[in-house]
Amino acid sequence: MRGIAAVPSYVVMQPTTLCNLDCVYCYLPLRAADRRMPPTVAEAVAASVNPWAASGRFSVVWHGGEPLAAGREHLAALLAPFGPAVEHHVQTNATLIDDAWCAFFAEHGIRVSVSVDGPRARNGERVTRGGRPAYDRILAGVAALRRHGLPFSALAVVSRPEPGLATELYDYFLDLGCDVLGINIEETEGVNTRTNARDAAAVTGFWAELVGAWRRDPRIHLREIEWSLRYAGAVLAGTADDLLPRRLDPIPTVSHDGSVVVLSPELAGFTDPRYGDFSSGNVLTTPLAEILTGAGRTPWVGEFLTGVEACRSSCPYFGFCGGGHAANRYFELGRFDGTETEHCRNSKIRLLEGVLEHARDHESPAA
Ligand code: SF4
Repeated sequence: MRGIAAVPSYVVMQPTTLCNLDCVYCYLPLRAADRRMPPTVAEAVAASVNPWAASGRFSVVWHGGEPLAAGREHLAALLAPFGPAVEHHVQTNATLIDDAWCAFFAEHGIRVSVSVDGPRARNGERVTRGGRPAYDRILAGVAALRRHGLPFSALAVVSRPEPGLATELYDYFLDLGCDVLGINIEETEGVNTRTNARDAAAVTGFWAELVGAWRRDPRIHLREIEWSLRYAGAVLAGTADDLLPRRLDPIPTVSHDGSVVVLSPELAGFTDPRYGDFSSGNVLTTPLAEILTGAGRTPWVGEFLTGVEACRSSCPYFGFCGGGHAANRYFELGRFDGTETEHCRNSKIRLLEGVLEHARDHESPAA
């Protein structure tokens, strides 16, 4: 895997910067402001996306802020320029989902992913602007999805890995009814400056326990564990070199104003004296396809690619990880050409170690 692909597999769109919640660990700098994406931005993005979708599977992920805070009428205007081959996804805190939103999702074929951290006692950092727990409102949104028979994914943030938590969470999400689950160990990113340094054994043990919980009842697609097992299987089959894509997916994030940040949505909305606003261009003046063709020339992107090469030559986990995320390097190390971060220790290295720990603890005795 070298360099950046010219065509992404999906685009992240920010219909509004606003979020109606104020989660304690949120990284978004502008979540109290309602800066909305005008339809002209969506039209410009669709001009590049529609041809890509015609020649292969392609997704637009509506991400905020809280995308539903833009309202149905505005979101419909942003969806309108995209052709029928484009798949739409929305990442939402679920608190605004009601029957009308469910009808909207069904009408537009939008796939929903809900952010929820587990049962009430584990969900205390997802709060309203007034500091009140959002849990009941999240569950009301999930209940609406279930009432309408709409499948949904879930995304959970884990801040304090501890024994028993992985099993508790997995059982909770089985009951919640999601069909895909992603788990993020809390990251130090954006305006969230809390440390993400965690006890190594606790994090490895969390992932090992999660594998065990999942193997007992693997009804949910568990993003991190399935990827790890796929990698382990490829290593055993001698095909691990074929697993990562040949080039990095640019994952363009299109901000409300049309500016494009590649590789890490978490960098959008930030500026730095060395790196400027991190953007590689604006779709209102340059076609998205053209911006991506030249993205490798964005100064910080070149520095990041140097860091990826440093990972390749120094890290035994590179074939599994591919070099980590740009935003984690920037917010933890202050630059892009470093290598190991707390994020990659928690979510790459200890994840793979946890899967191997589970395998070691449960291997069958030799015949
Ligand atoms: S695990 Fe960390 S150090 Fe290793 S390749 Fe990934 S980002 Fe680089």
